Amino acid sequence: MKNHHSTSVALPEPGPAAGPVTGRPDRVRAAVSLPEAATEVRYLDTAGAIGAVGWLRVESSAVCGTDVSLYQAGLDWPTVMGHHVVGRITALDPDRALAWGVTVGDLVALEEYLPCQRPDCAACSIPGRYRMCPESDLWKGRRRVGLISAEEGSGLYGGNAEYMQLNTNSIVHRLPSELDPDLASWTQPFANAVDWTINAGGAREGSTVVVIGPGYHGVAAVAAARAVGAKKIVAVGRSSQRLAIAEALGAVPVINDDGADLGTLIDSATGGNGTDLILDTVGLGRAVTSAAAGTLRKLGRLVLAGLGPVPVSEVDLKALIRGANTITGVRGRSPEAVRQSIDLLAAGTSGLELVPATHVPLEEVGDMLDRLAAGNGPASPHVVIRPQPAGTPSPNTSSRQAHTQTRNLNR
Ligand SMILES: [Zn+2]
Ligand SMILES: [Zn+2]
Repeated sequence: MKNHHSTSVALPEPGPAAGPVTGRPDRVRAAVSLPEAATEVRYLDTAGAIGAVGWLRVESSAVCGTDVSLYQAGLDWPTVMGHHVVGRITALDPDRALAWGVTVGDLVALEEYLPCQRPDCAACSIPGRYRMCPESDLWKGRRRVGLISAEEGSGLYGGNAEYMQLNTNSIVHRLPSELDPDLASWTQPFANAVDWTINAGGAREGSTVVVIGPGYHGVAAVAAARAVGAKKIVAVGRSSQRLAIAEALGAVPVINDDGADLGTLIDSATGGNGTDLILDTVGLGRAVTSAAAGTLRKLGRLVLAGLGPVPVSEVDLKALIRGANTITGVRGRSPEAVRQSIDLLAAGTSGLELVPATHVPLEEVGDMLDRLAAGNGPASPHVVIRPQPAGTPSPNTSSRQAHTQTRNLNR
C-alpha cells in the first residue's frame, strides 16, 4: 500500500468543500496533523481511496487524551487524527449495510479499531474480542482510526475531516437519529467508562466509588457510577474546575495536593466506611495501590486505566488476599459496553449533558491540540471537533429540519 499516495493541496483553495449528502465526496477538507506537532487544513482527493466500502459525513470528532499524547510525542507521518467519531453514512456497499445493520442516512459511532478479521487471529477469531487484535493495537500494528497515514490512499482515516472512508473492517454502531450531537460524541469515552466502572469495576446500586482524575474519562466514569445508582462517588483531582464538573454529576470533590496521602483523603471523603471501587484514570502507581490496600472493602476492586510515570511496585498482597480484592488493568471497551453507553445516552440518563462542550472548527484543530498539549485546554474536558462548515444543520437541529435532511439523504 506504500506506493499509493493521496493528492493533497495546501490552503488556500476556492470555497469550502461542501460535499454531497449522499455518495462519495470528491475532495474533502481535513485537518492534517504533522510529525512536528503542527496541523494544517488540506483538501484530500478521494479518487485514490483504497478499500473504501462507504463514506461517513463526520458530525463530531471528540479529542481524547491519547490524541494529545500522540501529537506531543510526534506522529510517525502526516495523519488525519480523531478516533472518537460520530457521523452520518452517505454511501455504503450493500453487503456492509447488511452486515452492520445500517443504511445510508444513519447516524453512527465508529470504534477506533480496524481489526484484521483473519480466522487465524487469536483475537478476531473470538466473537467480541476484536479490540485485542494485534494489527489494530496502539502499541503494535497501529491500523486504527486516526492513526493511518494521510499519504495512504484517500488519507481520510480519521475524524478530523468533513468526511472519512469506511473500510470493510470498520466497527460501526448505529445511533438514534435524533441524538444530540454533543451527547453522541460521548459514545466511545462513555463506553470506556461504563466498561471500567460497571463491568470491570463492579459498580452497582449502593456502591461507593472513587474516581481518580476528573478528566475526560474520569468525568465519564463519575457519570457511569451515577447511572448505575452508586450511593457515594468521590472524585479526586488537582483541577478545581474539573472537580466542579464532577461535582455537578454528583461526586464529592477532593483536591489531591502534592504530598497528601491518598488513603487519608479517601478515608475522610467516605467517612472511613471503605470503598467498593477505586478507578485510577491518571496512573498514580504506588500511591493508588497503597490507598487501595487501606480503603477497599471486601471484594472491592482497584481498576487501573491510566498509564502514569510511577510504577505499581508496592502492592500489599496480604491485604489483597484478606479482602478478596481484585486489581484489573483496562483498556478500550467491549462491544457490550458500547451498547450500554448508547442505551444510556439515548435514554437521557447519562447525565453527560451537564458537561459543557467546546466546539472546534477544522481551522482551529492545531491551536486546540497545542493548548491541550501545554495543559492550557478549556475548563471542560469535552472538546469536540465539528468539521462541517458553520451553518450546516446538525442531526437534530429541529425535528422538521432533521426530517427534511433524512428525506434528502435517502434520495
Ligand atoms: Zn480515545
Ligand atoms: Zn485480528
